[in-house]
Amino acid sequence: MEYRRMGKTGLQLSVLSFGSWVTFANQVDDGASDKLMSIAYDHGVNFFDNAEAYSNGESEKMMGRVLAKKNWERSSYCVSSKVFFGWHGKENKPNQRGLSRKHIMEACQEALQRLQVDYLDMFFCHRPDRETPMEEIVWSMNILIQQGKIFYWGTSEWSAAEIMEAHMCAKELGQIGPAMEQPQYNLFERQRVERDYYTIFRNVGMGTTIWSPLASGLLSGKYNNGIPEGSRLSLESYAWLKDKAYTEDRLQSIRNLGKVAKDMGTTLATLSIAWCISNPNVTTAILGATKEQQLLENLKALDVYPKITEGIKKEIDEIMGTKPGEP
Ligand code: NDP
Repeated sequence: MEYRRMGKTGLQLSVLSFGSWVTFANQVDDGASDKLMSIAYDHGVNFFDNAEAYSNGESEKMMGRVLAKKNWERSSYCVSSKVFFGWHGKENKPNQRGLSRKHIMEACQEALQRLQVDYLDMFFCHRPDRETPMEEIVWSMNILIQQGKIFYWGTSEWSAAEIMEAHMCAKELGQIGPAMEQPQYNLFERQRVERDYYTIFRNVGMGTTIWSPLASGLLSGKYNNGIPEGSRLSLESYAWLKDKAYTEDRLQSIRNLGKVAKDMGTTLATLSIAWCISNPNVTTAILGATKEQQLLENLKALDVYPKITEGIKKEIDEIMGTKPGEP
């Protein structure tokens, strides 16, 4: 495994990590989640990602049961949660979502209980909350750091301007600003990581824990000839995702990308993840998997990414047509 420093912090994260969105307490049970986390850990993965909203809190409970059972040394891994969406789904009452101090403090406490840990290594603001003053968000995260309940705080899907506002606010208050952002990054979604955040990487330093490296599995090529039964895009409750992700244009690009993978002697899934971590501004790519075989295939990205030359990158850019234009 390779470990990268998270932005300007001293924290080192495995360049491939493991998350539970959609899968835990939905597609996989306790036995399968135990197996998947164990494979990840045994391959050197040291970061497990979660959020209050995943399966309405049940995903954190499942991960907590695995962590308790495994009893790995707490200092050997990092675990995260995210606050914003609440865990009651449509039943959320006004203060059960968002980034008010009340919800941030309560969400952290509840995540600790569900995950059965004494502290979170990372705590993300899952989305920006334009109704809550930035000072309140920065203060709340700093209180949690002071209380020893979280070590690093970060953002997810915040614009570059919002991240900079948080940094300026923290500086004014003499406090700690966000250390990492969790953006979507894959061969279809490149704008934020490759363009919008450029000055933040350069001027402030920021780690990224990127999500959906396979665009929900699309980039594995499994959807090239239709939607396989039991796959994420076949799930009724995620029909909105299918409507967004599953387009003929995308499928055609993926079919064409297959040639590059074949020439390199690898698979589409491995190549797509390898491409993500070939960007040095990516601290870690969070993998998702419902089956052991998928996870093992995805972990091979570690061997493939050093083989992605500038020439291959160019070929991929031409096939995908998603490289952001110059600013
Ligand atoms: P991916 O884009 O990699 O999708 C993972 C899914 O694709 C798997 O669950 C599986 O679904 C399928 N898959 C994975 N590997 C293979 C393979 N080798 N061959 C075929 N199919 C495969 O990542 P996720 O979208 O799951 O995101 C990863 C993590 O990022 C999440 O768990 C979560 O922790 C985080 N995240 C954060 C968000 C945020 O807003 N901050 C938003 C979304 C995710 P199946 O078997 O069902 O088809």
